[in-house]
Amino acid sequence: IETLVVKIGSNILLSENEGLNLDFIRSLTESVADVQRKIKNIVIVSSGAVGAGFRHLGFSSRPKNITDRQACAAIGQARLIWLYEKEFEAFGKSVAQILITKDDFANSRRCLNARYAIRRLLEFGVVPIINENDTVVVDELKYFESFGDNDNLSALVAGLIGADLLLILSDVNGLYDKNPSVYPDAKLIHDVQYIDENLMSAAGESVSGVGTGGMGSKLKAAKKALNAGCHVGIINGRDTANISRFISGELVGTYFS
Ligand code: ADP
Repeated sequence: IETLVVKIGSNILLSENEGLNLDFIRSLTESVADVQRKIKNIVIVSSGAVGAGFRHLGFSSRPKNITDRQACAAIGQARLIWLYEKEFEAFGKSVAQILITKDDFANSRRCLNARYAIRRLLEFGVVPIINENDTVVVDELKYFESFGDNDNLSALVAGLIGADLLLILSDVNGLYDKNPSVYPDAKLIHDVQYIDENLMSAAGESVSGVGTGGMGSKLKAAKKALNAGCHVGIINGRDTANISRFISGELVGTYFS
């Protein structure tokens, strides 16, 4: 593997009080720095801006109103990057902030610009940290629960920079044959060769019964990345050492080959 995209879901980034989980960011940074000894090019797609910002605007929890969320995201994004920067600095690494929208991917000039910039940053050994530009697009923010559209963004990014592997860090061990938070007997699927209708419906069932579950958007993202020639893994990010375990071929999570 030459180029790796790591997508961090909100569930693992946020702690129980809905603010950023600083311990998680610390151990993620350590794991990424460790993996970087084997894989030079690592790009992070990170959510968490609203969670990092709502307190600064006096909210006691994440607001429900979209415009409020945008305000929180704008404040929180700066803080989020600052935290990453602080943690990566301990390993002698620099980070870069890249805000991007899905629409940018429909424009070939913008795609090229983004690709060149990210590639150049990687040549410098910098860790680009990408998030949706929530000021102009609210796809990620409009979901009431945390399952947002950064799954999709991470697949687009993987395609854009020609990544070999997209690792989606979630709060579950991978893709199960049915929703594990509803069915205790759900079984983890270790290897997926085809993403078909059966698999999509196994992932589509959400806890609340509203909208699609978080795994649905991950499967769609996986399909997109695979079509772009990028392998995909879904692993439990609560233990960030799973990143290096997955890369060294240990049977953690779900591998889309
Ligand atoms: P993240 O913040 O990591 O992106 P999501 O909430 O979007 O997390 O997605 C993970 C959630 O998807 C799990 O916690 C689980 O409740 C739900 N889910 C639904 N169906 C499945 C399935 N078949 N396998 C695994 N998780 C599933």
